[in-house]
Amino acid sequence: MTFDLTPEQDQLRDAVRALGRRYGHSYFVAKAKSGEHTTELWAEAGRLGYLGVNIPTEYGGGGGGITDLAIVCEELAAAGCPLLLLVVSPAIAATVLNRHGTEEQRKRHLPGLADGSQKIVFAITEPEAGSNFHRLGTVARRDGDGWLLSGRKCYISGVDEAGHVLVVARTEDSSTGKLKPALFLVPTDAAGLTRSKLDMEIVSPENQFLLYLDDVRLPADALLGESLDAGLPALFAGLNPERITVAAMGAGTGRYAIERASEYTATRKVWGGRTIGSHQGVSHPLAHAAVQVELARLMIQKAATLYDAGRDLEAGVAGNMAKYAAGEAAALAVDTAVQVLGGAGMTTEYGVATLLGAVRAGRIAPVSREMILNFVAQHVLGQDKSY
Ligand SMILES: Cc1cc2nc3c(=O)[nH]c(=O)nc-3n(C[C@H](O)[C@H](O)[C@H](O)COP(=O)(O)OP(=O)(O)OC[C@H]3O[C@@H](n4cnc5c(N)ncnc54)[C@H](O)[C@@H]3O)c2cc1C
Repeated sequence: MTFDLTPEQDQLRDAVRALGRRYGHSYFVAKAKSGEHTTELWAEAGRLGYLGVNIPTEYGGGGGGITDLAIVCEELAAAGCPLLLLVVSPAIAATVLNRHGTEEQRKRHLPGLADGSQKIVFAITEPEAGSNFHRLGTVARRDGDGWLLSGRKCYISGVDEAGHVLVVARTEDSSTGKLKPALFLVPTDAAGLTRSKLDMEIVSPENQFLLYLDDVRLPADALLGESLDAGLPALFAGLNPERITVAAMGAGTGRYAIERASEYTATRKVWGGRTIGSHQGVSHPLAHAAVQVELARLMIQKAATLYDAGRDLEAGVAGNMAKYAAGEAAALAVDTAVQVLGGAGMTTEYGVATLLGAVRAGRIAPVSREMILNFVAQHVLGQDKSY
């Protein structure tokens, strides 16, 4: 195992860091508070090829792996721009399409995902099913050559910015018993698809939605893949990229918070000539958070390396652990940063409390810390399934 990035990955890291810093956290917050999106940043990142780093070159991407996309996620977050749609569109949707879509679907969608002109969001969560996707109630019924989709989805990110939603449904003949999922590419303007925006306590330019699918009529080629058998592997194909990139976003956010806090505590003086950072009650919590973030980064690197080497099962364990570690570390880092900044920590100007909601959500979504612990208990420790 090597701890070094390739020279190209080093260059990518530097270039994405520079891009992120040109926009910065104040840009991200201003967009969130005015109800706008980070359109300029997304478009520039797309033009520079950063959104398609993991997409094969024949579809307009950079031909790299999830290590490269994790670098993009981490560095933009470390610059104060944690973009959740990187996890949804290039990580989940592009991977699923590339690995299990038809050639026609790849040609139609991947170039737009690579240059950022298109986004595809992902809808699995449902009000009744929650963490238990075996209970999914969104049903796909045959309609001539095509399909009719009905159901409800919740907390779906970025529907207002996307051309398509990748909807996870179950076919009518599997509406009871074991889930046989089927994935559909549903245009966001499809007749019968409506949405309502959820009010979330997260300062973010990206929004979450309730989706209602009321007999949404779809052509045969809206089904992802060559046949219904593509559904289950396609669903699993998105999991590792999702875990790894969301972990990278958490690690970047943790780094951002620790950097803001360290700058402050290294200069702020309230007791004679000493900086507050000279007091161990201030510096140790920051140092502890820095250790946790660095440990999470190490696990992200392991997970991404295993994934890019095609070792999906091992990447699954490492990716879940990385996601858990980064979620906890990001929450700790932001909370610690707020604390050591004192009153300044709660201001918008210092730009750390603005991340409290996002890092809190990172312990719940896209997979909760409890479901990861269930996975580790069962698959690593050999315990009986508890649910
Ligand atoms: C900001 C944000 C963005 C999101 N974006 C998307 C998106 O784009 N697409 C999408 O499909 N979904 C999205 N989600 C949904 C997210 O994936 C779910 O919220 C998450 O999977 C948890 O599901 P739930 O909210 O239904 O919680 P529930 O399943 O109701 O669980 C509630 C609590 O109980 C715990 N729990 C449940 N079952 C068990 C068990 N067996 N053992 C131990 N603990 C358990 C959970 O860990 C959790 O703490 C988003 C959520 C948020 C907050």
